[in-house]
Amino acid sequence: MSILGKCPYCGANVISRKFNTKGKTIKLYSCENAKKEYDESEQYVFTADSTCTFRVYSNAFLRWNKKSFSENEMKRLLKEGQTIVRLHGRKGSGEYFKYAIADKEYGVSILWEEEVKKELLSS
Ligand SMILES: [Zn+2]
Repeated sequence: MSILGKCPYCGANVISRKFNTKGKTIKLYSCENAKKEYDESEQYVFTADSTCTFRVYSNAFLRWNKKSFSENEMKRLLKEGQTIVRLHGRKGSGEYFKYAIADKEYGVSILWEEEVKKELLSS
């Protein structure tokens, strides 16, 4: 468990945790105030004492063939408000770069409209 930065919504620590699901290791980056648990009806819900909803899984961009959203990418997003992610098209169509930002509903989302300037990629 490690602290990655401050939550963009409530300022509490964002913590990284590893867990296994279906034989794969996934990381969860979550605000200290956004805890989930199973309720009586087996629904995975926010706990009664949760005051925030900021939670991001490392496979958040799997749809765009990015296997893992790394701790470093999350750290940069928390520090700078955005981070550059490398996405891939379906096989044969190459990689491309987009900005990812915090999203209240989904945890993170991609700024599709914005182009990432080439000179930013080398750093
Ligand atoms: Zn928070």
